[in-house]
Amino acid sequence: MSRYWSSLVHRLTPYIPGEQPKLSGLVKLNTNENPYPPSPRVVAAIDAELRNAGELLRLYPDPAAERLREAVATRFADFGITREQVFVGNGSDEVLAHAFMALLRHELPILFPDISYSFYPVYCGLHDVAYATVPLDENFAIRIDDYAVPNGGIIFPNPNAPTGCLLPLSAIERLLLMHRQSVVVVDEAYVDFGGESALALVKEHPNLLVVRTLSKAHSLAGLRVGYAVGQSELVEALERVKNSFNSYPLDRLAIAGAVAAIGDQAYFDGTRHAVMRSRAALCDALRGLGFEVLPSFANFVFARHGQRDADALAAALRLRGIIVRHFKLPRIDQHLRITIGTDAQCGLLIDALREILA
Ligand SMILES: *Cc1c(COP(=O)(O)O)cnc(C)c1O
Repeated sequence: MSRYWSSLVHRLTPYIPGEQPKLSGLVKLNTNENPYPPSPRVVAAIDAELRNAGELLRLYPDPAAERLREAVATRFADFGITREQVFVGNGSDEVLAHAFMALLRHELPILFPDISYSFYPVYCGLHDVAYATVPLDENFAIRIDDYAVPNGGIIFPNPNAPTGCLLPLSAIERLLLMHRQSVVVVDEAYVDFGGESALALVKEHPNLLVVRTLSKAHSLAGLRVGYAVGQSELVEALERVKNSFNSYPLDRLAIAGAVAAIGDQAYFDGTRHAVMRSRAALCDALRGLGFEVLPSFANFVFARHGQRDADALAAALRLRGIIVRHFKLPRIDQHLRITIGTDAQCGLLIDALREILA
């Protein structure tokens, strides 16, 4: 508290990201980073930029990041996506922040699940957006009929975080038709690990905004690149907010790296499938140790142990150099969210848990 703070700052409750430890050698399964490095083409593209750094970094980057928007449109040409339907930002968190201000701030409260990405209520606080949470059902699934109330917009991750549960496209389509007056934001941070993208619905639905990131499936959490796809009317709203805030959002290295990542489909498919294979093995092993594991379509699993307290388990793992995420929140305080690591990392986790549970 300070007399110098604005009343807005007094009211804020900032998001607390997962720990980024200074210690090396830890098995880090707490923030859903990809255990594999990004495509070698990303590294080569950034190296090429750096070789010319003296000249290039003197200049502002392209404020519209046209190359990147073009790369995204090309990648999703099968869905009829054009460059005018793509908006890019510094990570999907920034894209989401713009969406809250540009598309979700209306008279009526917006809706999102009671168990969901914990950044959403933070943005509501920052941007003065009223919200109401809608409880997931007893299996942690989103029930579309529960959203049949007047609202200023709807947002949810698909697959959901931190549960990993997937909502089928048919359900999303039903929601879009039910609320033609509201924007529905589908946050697809994890969709590449087995989900079905709502990008297929963009063409038919002017109220759909799909938000995606290169942080998870493209192994580029450190580069900070995300994007949104929607009809140009929605993208124009995001552009208007962006150009009233920071008109040069992506730096030159980020644009170069992101374009290269999006262009390397074969590498992308290799790593995401490796994560999915490890996920299946990890789920089996956890169940073998007495965990209930929700079926996951993401690069993490959400699991609880019938007999052991989740906070105590997380602490015991931490002592053994393994970090997982535990949320002290209603309904999920006995769950752990565990990021899928390499098979070797998953093996260390299972060995440690076996020891702790013995
Ligand atoms: C990780 C994550 C994001 C943010 O990703 P960045 O692009 O790194 O900002 C957005 N939404 C959800 C649900 C996430 O889990």
